[in-house]
Amino acid sequence: MKGLIFSVKRYSVHDGPGIRVTFFMKGCPLSCWWCHNPEGISPEQQTVIQTRKVGEKEFSRREIVGRYYSIDELLEILDRERIFLEQSGGGVTFSGGEPLMQPEFLLEALKACHEKGYNTAVDTSGYSSAESFLAIMPYTDVFLFDLKHTDDNLHLEYTGVSNIRILENLRMITGMGKSVIVRIPVIPGINDDDLTLRSMRDLLGSLNRENPVSISLLPFHKIGMTKYGKFGLQYRMNNTIPPTSKRMNEFKLFFAETGLKVKTGG
Ligand code: SF4
Repeated sequence: MKGLIFSVKRYSVHDGPGIRVTFFMKGCPLSCWWCHNPEGISPEQQTVIQTRKVGEKEFSRREIVGRYYSIDELLEILDRERIFLEQSGGGVTFSGGEPLMQPEFLLEALKACHEKGYNTAVDTSGYSSAESFLAIMPYTDVFLFDLKHTDDNLHLEYTGVSNIRILENLRMITGMGKSVIVRIPVIPGINDDDLTLRSMRDLLGSLNRENPVSISLLPFHKIGMTKYGKFGLQYRMNNTIPPTSKRMNEFKLFFAETGLKVKTGG
């Protein structure tokens, strides 16, 4: 069995506890306006033209985005970093895209990593079936779960999908006592108004917290902007200005009223 992965990041410190290896899996059912990994949206391998300027000359070459990995190959990568992962209390994170777009591979990979003693994290949009979440739950130590908007119509407008099953899955996972880091991308003009912030805070304050539930606030940035053209996608956030650190601090204090641990950044 093989899974399609578009990037492998070693020494990641923003994708869960400790130092981690993050596998970015291809395919996402959402198309968020602010996505900084547009190469993760299509579930297929893609060929793009990579252009580089050296002095006055421009060089172009074809590049294939996405490579099929076996589970043994993933384990080999992890085994090479084992000492850093263990000593830092880290592990492996499956991100994307949406890792649950490849549910069978994700399940087998999580099982294999768990068997080898690695701490496992799944970074998810929450948009998958309850069955898929239930299947991976015994082999997932921590979920990084995105919360983008509480208003269903606005969620649909800015991400392309309804938030109903996302919110159901969030309640189900926390209800089962799983460790969850809820990740809120703070997007000026889209989800940083008082009404939305209050409804997100109320929702998070009402979650079961038998196991640790915490909040990470991720400030909007434009790092992925230059990739859009290459993938034939339109970037719609040109006029949006990233939130200041003062504003992020205000959000942090606001969400701390839930009683949950809050940090800014991954
Ligand atoms: S859920 Fe994540 S990977 Fe998918 S489109 Fe949105 S930001 Fe991008």
